[in-house]
Amino acid sequence: MYPVSTTPRKLAASPIGRKVQEDRDRRCDICACQTNGVSSLCRRCLSRRSRFGSVKVSRIIEYREYNHFLGPVTKYLKQHPPPLPVRESMARFLLPPGKIPVGQVGHKSRALLIQEMCRWPDPRYQKKKTTHGGYDRPAKYTPTAYLATLIAVNMFIEEREGRGFPDDAEQFTLARALVRMHKRPGRRGISSKKLKLFPPGQARLEIRVNRVCKTVLAGLAARLREFQIVGVYVLTTARSLLAELQHDQAPRNAALSPRRRKVASMPQPQPQPQSQPEPEPKLKITADMLVFHYGAIPSAPAPPIVEEEPSDPGPHPAPRWDGTAAQARLINAWAKKHDRWQAFLRSQAHLLTLNNTQPPEGV
Ligand SMILES: [Zn+2]
Repeated sequence: MYPVSTTPRKLAASPIGRKVQEDRDRRCDICACQTNGVSSLCRRCLSRRSRFGSVKVSRIIEYREYNHFLGPVTKYLKQHPPPLPVRESMARFLLPPGKIPVGQVGHKSRALLIQEMCRWPDPRYQKKKTTHGGYDRPAKYTPTAYLATLIAVNMFIEEREGRGFPDDAEQFTLARALVRMHKRPGRRGISSKKLKLFPPGQARLEIRVNRVCKTVLAGLAARLREFQIVGVYVLTTARSLLAELQHDQAPRNAALSPRRRKVASMPQPQPQPQSQPEPEPKLKITADMLVFHYGAIPSAPAPPIVEEEPSDPGPHPAPRWDGTAAQARLINAWAKKHDRWQAFLRSQAHLLTLNNTQPPEGV
């Protein structure tokens, strides 16, 4: 093998590199950018998938975007405490999971998750107060308080009817909200930009908080999905509370002056609150109901995949690679068809040899 560099620009500089590049060229399945030649996604899409849970999501949901829901949720949970099974399930969720032995698959990611979750009950990593959008309350770290955060985030998501949260993005947002309830370890340091602003020897170090690693978020998201009782309770409560809040808000919006009403009704998903169905009565969740909901969630039947009969795609569309994205797409489409056609021919041949008959022509 030639000692060739891996970056596309360096590759393109030499004839050997160009040949290597030709062999390695692979386009991202999502945005058709160049990938590293092995992965089916480009660097940006890979990063989005690992940090946000979906290749289509491009940003983090900030704390200030959902903290105004925390107040009503806390008030509601005080009047209607969550049923015992839910609280117990949440308490079990908050216990760090068991270790995976060294050497087995998933050992490192599990160790990172345990390291993160072990900090949660530690008072050094707990905050003093929680901002509820305009006012503060003393921060609490009971299972109910964690449930309140989950419900508030779910209300934010439900307000948008799940738009903007494809694939695993919802679970990742919930996981990030749980992590955000605690302080995170950091280190003392200073950026080189700020260092230049100070006279020599006068720079002050600042604590820079370490970012949550994507492995921890993925582990938490998977763990959230395991605790279905919590998930169902959080979702049903979020929906009923949101309907209640929107119902309370409707007369206030109507009382505003026309110009203000226009502004107030803009961010809401449904501009006509009158046409909405009657909001559900206050939710009282019992254990039976949870079991009912839990059992009643139908796993949606996958739509039948209608596959067209594979056909011969013909010769390769572009024997010379000119580097354009359009040609890449053309070749990819052809390659897919070609692979299917070859697989079809192989399966036909296999069937025919099983039946001790002649294979079809062209195999
Ligand atoms: Zn991409």
